[in-house]
Amino acid sequence: MRLRNITGSKEVIAENEFVVPEEEWKPGHWREIFGNDHPLQIEVGMGKGKFLHTMAKLHPEINFVGIEKYSSVLLRAVQKMEKEPLPNLRFLRMEAEELTRAFGPGEVDRIYLNFSDPWPKDRHAKRRLPSREFLARYDVILKKNGRLEFKTDNRELFEFALGELEPAGWEAEFVTYDLHGDADLMAGNVMTEYEEKFSALGNPICKYQIYRKY
Ligand code: SAM
Repeated sequence: MRLRNITGSKEVIAENEFVVPEEEWKPGHWREIFGNDHPLQIEVGMGKGKFLHTMAKLHPEINFVGIEKYSSVLLRAVQKMEKEPLPNLRFLRMEAEELTRAFGPGEVDRIYLNFSDPWPKDRHAKRRLPSREFLARYDVILKKNGRLEFKTDNRELFEFALGELEPAGWEAEFVTYDLHGDADLMAGNVMTEYEEKFSALGNPICKYQIYRKY
């Protein structure tokens, strides 16, 4: 994600009706926030929110929460919501390391990781969103039998992510190295901003869907 420090973005985010402020992060409160008990799905590392905004429009029966660490990036998602507000989409300006401060045990039905930052240096492996350290956090907040989906065009990151499953106690339901070449898996696929960009360059898109082994 290209970053520019947009002046005033922190202030806009702090006061925005679509962003749940830190003082209101309470595990177990999403039903109250949305005013219903619909299933809850989250995207970790949402970027500008294209994927989740489209998903929320397509699936009014599901509540969505986007998590993004940079105010200047989150601002774009917020601006999209101001143009086209949706009752079933909210945002958190949050470092994903803190997920369990905002989501209770088993509160989330599905987790999306899309084109996560690769952190190519070995010493930064723990920061990769599909790492075993993050899988342990997802394990807390994801409901039993919940699913996690990960898409990327970065083959090295994808291989790393696959290697993390067994030690973390997760299993793949499906794995593809060419999502766009698989008509069955493409049914209902919503393209993310990065997916559009990299598939247009001819990069194959890798995807897995995983669940916990018990
Ligand atoms: N998911 C979007 C897509 O597919 O178009 C954006 C992908 S972009 C490469 C990754 C985004 O994840 C960036 O906006 C980055 O700021 C965010 N991000 C990375 N690590 C994060 C973390 N630990 N907590 C929250 N956001 C994170």
